[in-house]
This record gives sequence, structure tokens and C-alpha cells, in this order.
Amino acid sequence: MFKIPEKIEYVIKKLNKNGFDAYIVGGCVRDILLLKTPHDYDITTSATPDEIMTVFDKTIPTGIKHGTVTVLIEGEPIEVTTFRCDGDYLDARHPKNVKFVRNLKEDLSRRDFTVNAMAYNNESGLCDLFGGQEDLKAKILRAVGDPETRFKEDALRILRLFRFASTLNFQIEQNTFDAAIKCAPLISKISVERIMTELKTAVLGESFKVIKPLIDCGALSFLGLDTCPDFEKISKHKNSPLLCLYLLFQGNIKTDLKLSNIEKDFINGINRLKEMPSPKTKADIKRCLAATNETITRQFLTLLDISCEELDEILQNREPYLIGHLKITGNDLLSLGYKGEGVGEILKTLQNEVIENPTQNTKARLLNLITK
Ligand code: ATP
Ligand code: MG
Repeated sequence: MFKIPEKIEYVIKKLNKNGFDAYIVGGCVRDILLLKTPHDYDITTSATPDEIMTVFDKTIPTGIKHGTVTVLIEGEPIEVTTFRCDGDYLDARHPKNVKFVRNLKEDLSRRDFTVNAMAYNNESGLCDLFGGQEDLKAKILRAVGDPETRFKEDALRILRLFRFASTLNFQIEQNTFDAAIKCAPLISKISVERIMTELKTAVLGESFKVIKPLIDCGALSFLGLDTCPDFEKISKHKNSPLLCLYLLFQGNIKTDLKLSNIEKDFINGINRLKEMPSPKTKADIKRCLAATNETITRQFLTLLDISCEELDEILQNREPYLIGHLKITGNDLLSLGYKGEGVGEILKTLQNEVIENPTQNTKARLLNLITK
């Protein structure tokens, strides 16, 4: 018997009491069988959304079109979805309609991979109609049904395939693999946000190099991903998602990848540092700090296999590297009679001076430098 969290068990039991079938399904069942703690639980049920909303007091119709209702149990949101089968697919992305059905089998057959197509409840045990358990044991990803049909229905499954292969460290079954590569051009129909979500998860996976054939076949070149990244480097930097993203795209953001501002700033920052002379001295590191910030500089040094000891020293000793750190201000210079652009130029020169030699950062010494 699986150990299911109390609230999940409560929802299943309550649906049962009201005459409906209900199971945990998909990723959580897979993860339990892999002896991992699921990060969330999905419940699938024969109850329609209206029926789910009648059974429970507090519900939110979060994805009613797809049959998903969020049930709140003591404030905790639990997703409950009606058994469904997908109608015809329009454009490798969206089913034309979804049809609610009353049996679990149909619901399981619309799921992507055998390891994701198992359901469980304490009363009936495991429902594994497609050999999911066997594939889990053998660490194999295999499409449910005819792989080509399934990838043509929804090309996101191709990315999910490589994402799971990377994160679970599983092999891809040959027919599933061949169909995925054959259908890979359809990926361009998927929204960039969804593609990026999958890629960002995949790149942090244990065996990201599985994605090589997908890049090699050109299916991702519309994202600017037309040469394979340095997989060895990526595997060394798994603890830094930003650096992995940088390495994945090799700093080359061609199209609008819908990156967050943090991601864009990071990638632009690393690119800026790459254009500067490679940091050999403490002063060089300060110039990196001045051009970006601590986080980006630290990751840049890590990327270049340079120790962060000197960086830590700079920060700990509060060594000056910004104009704002100077013991003299623009106003001081204005009151000395300097004007306009000249002030900026002088401050930059002084910044360079103190970067090289922090002991120069006293008002008297800086004034002395100016008169020189
Ligand atoms: P994760 O650990 O990333 O959450 P997951 O398998 O739970 O993995 P979800 O995206 O949460 O993935 O989806 C839940 C389940 O819904 C999957 O296990 C699978 O059964 C089904 N599913 C999700 N996306 C698709 C899809 N594009 N096509 C078919 N079935 C899908
Ligand atoms: Mg999930």
C-alpha cells in the first residue's frame, strides 16, 4: 500500500462515498514507485466538474474547460480532474475539445508516457494498463499508444520526453525516439514559454546530453539553438540554473526567448564580462564587479574556473570599485570649479586609480591626484 498524504486520501474517500471513482495519477504515482517524494498529487475522478463542486464545500474552477477543479482542504489546494479523453488535435498543440468520460482506461490512454499513465488508490491498488511499472524498472520512456500519432497530436510531448529522459536519467525506447525526431519540426508550433519551461528543467537534469539528437536535427534552431552546448561544462554547473541557461544558449539570445529580466540581465552581464580582458588580477575582478554585480561576477569566475577568494576579499574588506565608493563626490568637484563632462571623466579616472590602489581612497589623496 502506498503512503498517501491524509488530505489527498480524504478527497479520494469522499468522492468514493459519493459514488465516484477517484485515484492519484500521473507524476505522483511514478515518483512514489521511484521512492521519491512527489512534489504534488493529481487526482483523477469519474465525477464531472459540477459533481466535484457539489461534493466539496470549497472549490475553485481553475481549469474547468479541461475538467480541473481545485478543491481546498483546510486551505490546501488539491487539483481534481475529471476522467477525460482528448478530442481531435488541431495544430499539434490544442485538442479541439476534451470529452469527459466515465472510465479510467480512457483517461490513462491520453497520457503521454507509460510511466506517467498509472493510477492508484488504496482500495483498488495500482492500475497499470500500459506496462508503466515494467518500464520504470527498466528506466525506459515509451509513448502510450502509437508514438508518431501522439507526438503529432501534441508536440510538447517531444520536449517532455527529452526533459524526463534528462531528469529521470531514463533511456528512450527506440520507436518513441524515432517518432520524436521525425515529428520534431512540429515543436515550432508550441509557445516559446512552454518550450523554455521544458528546456530549463531539462538542462538541470542528470543526463542532459540526451537532448543532443534533438538539437542536431535542427528542431530547436528557431530558438537560436543550432549548435550543441558544452554538456560537460553544463554538468559541472548544475547548482546554477542561470549559468546552465547561459551555457545552453551559449550566450546567444537570438529570438525572443521570453526570459525573465533576471535571466536577461544575467546573460547580458556574462556577455559583457566576456568582452573585457580575462580577469587575472584583483583589480580586474573589481572591474568585473563595477561592470556587473557580485552575483554575476561570482558566476563568471566559477565559469572560468577562477577561485572566488580574491572576490570575497574585496567584498569583505569593502575595497572601493565604484564611483559611489570614492571619498570624493561630483559635488566636491563642482565646488572646485570643474564643470560638465569633465567631472564625469575625472571621477572615472579616480575610480580606476582606487581600483588599482585602494589606499588612494582618501579625500586628500584623491584631491592631490586631481591637481596632478
Ligand atoms: P512533474 O514531476 O514534472 O510534475 P508530471 O508527470 O507530474 O511530472 P505534469 O506536467 O504535472 O507532469 O502532468 C501530470 C500528468 O499529466 C503527467 O504525468 C501525464 O500523465 C499527463 N500529461 C501532462 N502533460 C501531458 C501531455 N502534454 N500529453 C499527455 N499527457 C500529459
Ligand atoms: Mg506533476
